[in-house]
Amino acid sequence: MPMHIAGNPQQLTAQQRELIDLAATLGREKFGPRAARYDRDATFPFENYDDLRAAGLLGICVPRAQGGLGADFATYVMVAAEIGRHCGATALSYNMHVSSTMWAGFIADALDMTPAQRADHEANRALHFGRIVNEGKVYSQPFSEGGAAAAGKAPWGTLARPVDGGFLVSGKKIFASLAGAADFYGVLCTLDRPGATQRDSLYLAVAAQAAGVSVVGDWDPLGMRGTVSRTLLLADVFVPHSARLMPEGLYWQAASRFPHMFATLSPTYMGIAQAAYDFTVAYLRAEVPGMPKVLRRMYPTKQIAVAQMRVTLEQTRALFLQNARDAAVDPDKDTRMRLFAAHYTIMENAAALTSLAIRTCGGQSMLKTLPLERLYRDSRCGSLMLPWTAELCLDRLGRECLYEAGERDEAIE
Ligand SMILES: Cc1cc2nc3c(=O)[nH]c(=O)nc-3n(C[C@H](O)[C@H](O)[C@H](O)COP(=O)(O)OP(=O)(O)OC[C@H]3O[C@@H](n4cnc5c(N)ncnc54)[C@H](O)[C@@H]3O)c2cc1C
Repeated sequence: MPMHIAGNPQQLTAQQRELIDLAATLGREKFGPRAARYDRDATFPFENYDDLRAAGLLGICVPRAQGGLGADFATYVMVAAEIGRHCGATALSYNMHVSSTMWAGFIADALDMTPAQRADHEANRALHFGRIVNEGKVYSQPFSEGGAAAAGKAPWGTLARPVDGGFLVSGKKIFASLAGAADFYGVLCTLDRPGATQRDSLYLAVAAQAAGVSVVGDWDPLGMRGTVSRTLLLADVFVPHSARLMPEGLYWQAASRFPHMFATLSPTYMGIAQAAYDFTVAYLRAEVPGMPKVLRRMYPTKQIAVAQMRVTLEQTRALFLQNARDAAVDPDKDTRMRLFAAHYTIMENAAALTSLAIRTCGGQSMLKTLPLERLYRDSRCGSLMLPWTAELCLDRLGRECLYEAGERDEAIE
């Protein structure tokens, strides 16, 4: 039996066990066998999305009342990690889709809104959730712009100008995973008004077919090639009021009060870390299909290397699972710091584990006929992802370790 992504499945709920098993079956039978082709061609895995749709997994975090599976944060991240174990690119783009439903769903539910905002939000999200659950539509989440906004240091450069019935949206989003594949792009932008700040954020579902939307540029990256994260251009795109995935300003509140909303990028890399370990064990036991039956497990150096990998994997999983349990509104400072430590650890350990896997298995293991070199390239992308790159996690963690809220150095005599 392959190791369970959650370590001990006995501690999971029935729904968690069922959905993780479903993801494992899809991963083993469908996504894994297709992964090399999508990676080689740098094309979008539409077939995998057909399978996710048929399995009901596009609505994993859509509330049950709206026809979804109603999964919570912990359930989602474990399912995503299991998918990442078989195809990192599918897991990463799936995260962009699911995040849209999570942000508009249980995260929005945990935040403060006026009764009027809440009613407005209920009406809008019913439209979006209905599209996903009933029509199988796919959403994405382009927020990166190449400036300081995605790191949370400046307002979005993409602007939404109020007009009759909605907004005219203009801007440019880089690394827009699912570019050309999503039905709706969940665009973060700034309400265009004098003196607008980060608090004037808007989160709008822009129809891929709307006039003024275009996808440009090449896509030939090192890793995560199946995400097809090309550049999205928006030129005076009309977007109706009902396109709001969150009320005006709520994204800012969410980012400040529910920081785990960004931690959904790391489960993919938890899955890749697990896959690197799985491969190494199979390789040393001469159980990789298509490879000559040469045992390598009897060498003490291999045993030590695989033990090191297991230690790193279990450390990674422990923080991953703790993070899954911690996600809630208004975490205290220690929880927030553990979140940065966990995110950093998962992203960096995934890259370290794939690297050690190649060193341990040896030259033949990095041939393109085997998955390890793809895992190695995909894993490298994790710690580059904004808003929490490895550098920015350290930056925030270091500052918060040494400063309490509001403290200034000049106050210390
Ligand atoms: C495979 C893949 C898929 C992606 N998919 C999406 C997607 O679907 N949607 C999306 O919005 N984005 C996506 N991204 C983009 C990603 O989140 C980053 O925005 C992107 O990698 C940033 O690249 P950059 O070179 O412009 O970063 P820069 O902004 O130039 O930053 C470079 C580095 O400088 C550091 N840095 C940046 N700002 C600060 C600061 N204020 N203080 C200190 N250090 C800082 C960070 O460590 C960062 O890694 C994806 C990226 C990859 C690799």
